[in-house]
Amino acid sequence: MKEYRSYTLQNYQEIPQSASLSNKDREAIEVVGRVLPFKTNNYVTDELIQWGQLKNDPIFTLNFPRRALLLPHHYQEVKELMAKSREEALKASLTQIRRELNPNPSGQEYNVPEFRGVRLHGLQHKYRETVLLFPRPGQTCHAYCTFCFRWPQFSNLQEMKFSIHEDYKLYLAYIKAHPKVTDILFTGGDPMTMNASLLRAYIDPLLSAEMEQIRNIRIGTKALAYWPYRFTTDPDADEVLRLFEYVVKSGKHLSIMGHFNHPVELSTDAVQEAIKRIRSTGAQIRTQSPVLRHINDDPKVWADMLRRQVALGCIPYYMFVARDTGAKHYFEIPLAQCQLIFKEAYQKVSGICRTVRGPSMSDHAGKIQILGVSDDGNRKLFVLRFIQGRNPDWVAKPFFAEYSATATWFDQLKPAFGAQKFFFEDELSYYLRDALERDAGAY
Ligand SMILES: *Cc1c(COP(=O)(O)O)cnc(C)c1O
Ligand code: SF4
Repeated sequence: MKEYRSYTLQNYQEIPQSASLSNKDREAIEVVGRVLPFKTNNYVTDELIQWGQLKNDPIFTLNFPRRALLLPHHYQEVKELMAKSREEALKASLTQIRRELNPNPSGQEYNVPEFRGVRLHGLQHKYRETVLLFPRPGQTCHAYCTFCFRWPQFSNLQEMKFSIHEDYKLYLAYIKAHPKVTDILFTGGDPMTMNASLLRAYIDPLLSAEMEQIRNIRIGTKALAYWPYRFTTDPDADEVLRLFEYVVKSGKHLSIMGHFNHPVELSTDAVQEAIKRIRSTGAQIRTQSPVLRHINDDPKVWADMLRRQVALGCIPYYMFVARDTGAKHYFEIPLAQCQLIFKEAYQKVSGICRTVRGPSMSDHAGKIQILGVSDDGNRKLFVLRFIQGRNPDWVAKPFFAEYSATATWFDQLKPAFGAQKFFFEDELSYYLRDALERDAGAY
């Protein structure tokens, strides 16, 4: 059995391999780690990081604060306040910097409904069929990703927390009141940080006869990549697997949405054993990742990752565009380049790996995929489509934007053919206004 040891700002010096950190590395950890959440663990440090080549190690970059994750003026400001031990000023500056890092991208608060006079903080309902649930005890992860768009969940930005802190019965009633909801996606944080009995308490009510409408239960998790022992040698690992079996036997489809950013995360005996054990319960594993500079901005890396996933029996699902939050200046890639990485990776792999869809931006309006670039010799256009939309009627219709070599998000794109707006924009403002009025108490 592997005993979980987490490392944070307070104790990272105890990492056995930390002797290979230079003084500069340590300073960066201590300065950047004050702004962005930092947590890693002994699986990541023992099995995934190549300590001999830290400079470019993708997993080190994924978990450890590097200097370049902060803009130089932010870095300087925090460093100076720390040196002067000005705690009050430091606190104020940390709060201010975090606010400047766009802590809640793409208006997630618009997706939080009010029901019977109560705001359901642990639920997001954006797409007709699928409800996201955020179990309160699952609002942490086995290690934190430095690019995470849910990072305010782990910082002291309390008011931004999404988590179930109202009566769960109310959530079930909400779902029943929306009979078109067929999918529940448990997310976080990482729901697989919960113990088996907590997990069962959230899942069990969805299996009852009353909840016949629910066909698919998904659990979004990074545990396969960051703590695969969750499914192998943890004290309640067998109980977790029995729960999965029980869900499948009850007739629901169970999909573990595995978050993998790099092929290294698929390479250890522990993760391969974990995947095998999950698959033996009848649950499926689908995989997803953003495309990130410094981590996987290379079609060869993606092709390798997709092939390994399929070889292990996983189903590639999404390639996302990294969201505009936190250390985005470090990780972001122009949309044109994201599309090239997708296209070249897709061209390299066989048909069974091509269940992956992307690159996809989760914007206010929905999941917008860049299908490709159309170029007739006169003009270049992005061909786009919705994979998911706030209005399901928007889905799967191609539409066009002017090509841009530099745009990194949908809001930087212009409609093609001189149009003033994209076809869905009027309707979208109607949806968002609706949400604002609800916030203002008009409902
Ligand atoms: C991605 C996402 C979903 C799930 O969409 P699928 O296409 O069904 O995987 C649901 N809700 C939100 C808010 C999402 O971002
Ligand atoms: S595992 Fe997911 S929620 Fe947790 S830090 Fe990484 S990206 Fe964020």
